[in-house]
Amino acid sequence: MPRPRPPYPAVSGLFGKPTVLNNVETLANVPAIVLRGAEWFQGVGLHGAAGTKVFALSGTIRNTGLVEVPIGIPLRTIIEDIGGGAPEGHEIKAVQIGGPSGGCIPRAELDVPADHGSLQRLGAMMGSGGMVVMDERSCMVGEAFVVAQIAPAVPVTVLESEGASGTTLHALANQAMAQSLGQPAEALLGAPAERLLGFPELAGVGELLAQDAPEYAVRELDRGDHCSMASVAAFRSDSGEVLGRILTIADTTPLRRMALEKSRFIRTMVHELRAPLGAIRSLVEVAVDGCLGPDLAAYQPLLARAGARIDGLAELIGDLLSFLQIDLERQPPIPPLGSEIAAAVAATVEEHRARIDARGLRWSVELAPDLPNAAIGEEDLRTVLRNLVGNATKYNRDEGSLSVRGETAAGFVMIAVQDTGIGIRASNLPRLFDEFYREPRPETRAVEGNGLGLAIVRRLVERVGGTIDVASVEGEGTTFAIRLPIAGLPAPLPERTNQVDCCVISTT
Ligand code: ADP
Repeated sequence: MPRPRPPYPAVSGLFGKPTVLNNVETLANVPAIVLRGAEWFQGVGLHGAAGTKVFALSGTIRNTGLVEVPIGIPLRTIIEDIGGGAPEGHEIKAVQIGGPSGGCIPRAELDVPADHGSLQRLGAMMGSGGMVVMDERSCMVGEAFVVAQIAPAVPVTVLESEGASGTTLHALANQAMAQSLGQPAEALLGAPAERLLGFPELAGVGELLAQDAPEYAVRELDRGDHCSMASVAAFRSDSGEVLGRILTIADTTPLRRMALEKSRFIRTMVHELRAPLGAIRSLVEVAVDGCLGPDLAAYQPLLARAGARIDGLAELIGDLLSFLQIDLERQPPIPPLGSEIAAAVAATVEEHRARIDARGLRWSVELAPDLPNAAIGEEDLRTVLRNLVGNATKYNRDEGSLSVRGETAAGFVMIAVQDTGIGIRASNLPRLFDEFYREPRPETRAVEGNGLGLAIVRRLVERVGGTIDVASVEGEGTTFAIRLPIAGLPAPLPERTNQVDCCVISTT
């Protein structure tokens, strides 16, 4: 079954070990290289390419089937010598290579070496090695439309030119395009382009097409709550005449939403940085202007407040850096043996000891004796615990209690941090892990904080495949429970119901 990533197979795959995933075709080369050596393998290909490639010959060609050839031999050799050329005196027109996302190579380019770089330069690719040969009876517009149908998730339209002027266009829309326009596919088959371009969803595409026969042009289509990227590419005949255009629409709404979220985050961040700066400035101004008279002692409380604000700012900047760092790290750093919970909990309690004692909190740590290590980096585990134990101290009541419990539950290491503090209002729970969110209550206003701690905790826990839950009663207390995968074992899925694990090895 597909699993959420990370961890990636190269870090933790089969039996929790680093695992290489490759096509059977690639893996089949390994024994030959081991037996005969790298030099022999490199000597097989042509023009600096190494090894062989299997192509699947099909279409209008005499000999269809699988052929294995040295990488880099000319396409013409594969098609004419091995494949026997087009049948019954027909003439080869083009070769579609690399599957639907590959490209068509025209007859004039058949001497191209069949290697990755040369094919890519012609806009095709080797890909899975599929090769569909077409002779002069094939219509390239029809072929383009077939490809458009094969890519069902992407709305694609082929606009076919009519007549020598190339100005009248007819549309062939694939299923996804018809669906995005709310039409049955047949309704758009061969419809005049004006009809297609009249849909509000495609407003703006007309202007894109009106540009002077562009080879390739893109334009963003913005419809308020929905936006997409339209791209138009011309396709030509052997003699260079434009046969039509392929219009592809990519839904960019999720990307736009992400960009907006980033902007919102930056705006809040700037506001959070600016507010304490303003306060510090006012406090310093009072001191500089000497508003409180010549007695220096009168300024002490002001400067102490300014100092506390500066500490808060420094903490915010530290948290922001951690938060952004998590986004930048593609793979979370996990030591090979994971992290030991007991050591991390002991260090965290020690770190908060002065504050715990100052508030007269009773505290306890209860860890199952055989607690396995958790699949999380040591630094990350410390950050998670520091935030949870810090909150259980900050938002507790004087003389209250605080406990940290650790046990194994359903294949995870579970750590619960419980306090007897102010609790959290049920209606505020859904926003608790949002960046910069602080409960708008008089009790929290008196407590130093920036609302980034829980957002950081959630990201750190979730990126190693763990979860975090909260249970709270306002005025009575809160429990945060994190579940972390066990080091050395694959992360279990949260709910395992008769699940069958299987491994699919591509045969192409
Ligand atoms: P901070 O504590 O810096 O404000 P957090 O992201 O750690 O930021 O917490 C966000 C908010 O969640 C806090 O402002 C507080 O309103 C609430 N909160 C977190 N932990 C607790 C807790 N143990 N008890 C009560 N409220 C909490």
